[in-house]
Amino acid sequence: MASREILTHSSEETLQRGREIGALLKPPVLVLLSGELGAGKTTLTKGMVGALGAAQEDQVTSPTFTLVHKYDQGPVVYHVDLYRVENFHDLETLGLDDFLTEQAMVIVEWPEKLTLRTDWPVVRIQLEHAGEDRRRITIRDEAGILGSEDRGPQQTTTSP
Ligand code: ADP
Ligand code: MG
Repeated sequence: MASREILTHSSEETLQRGREIGALLKPPVLVLLSGELGAGKTTLTKGMVGALGAAQEDQVTSPTFTLVHKYDQGPVVYHVDLYRVENFHDLETLGLDDFLTEQAMVIVEWPEKLTLRTDWPVVRIQLEHAGEDRRRITIRDEAGILGSEDRGPQQTTTSP
């Protein structure tokens, strides 16, 4: 599995990395974004969604309270933030399993809150504070879809 570490020095740089990643991703794909509050998950998402052509970057805002935003100016993106999800009922009403039946890009912030079973390719991205405006971004490209590796059929279970 390809794993890559990047250091960014500003939110603009993280946005740019998001654009680069988004340009390489083709739905269906599940992107799991881990990291503390303010680590840059939503910033990275803006770049990815913009590059995919699903929305303008400034239309992409945090779905902290609504839990999910859908962008569908072209390809469909579901941007999910599970930070405020407290119980199983919240998760049920979200309909996450239904998103995973569409030809979409599903981006999940705080993926530790749930277990998902999917045969979609999964990209795991961990963002960490690295002092002031620095962020360490570790990309685990489990299905090899960001590089040149072959993508074989696989079953992935994400667990808390
Ligand atoms: P999260 O979704 O992980 O809570 P956001 O992307 O919403 O994080 O917010 C990140 C915050 O950190 C923004 O206020 C942004 O301006 C700031 N920031 C500072 N340096 C960086 C960086 N290198 N990458 C991303 N965000 C940064
Ligand atoms: Mg966020």
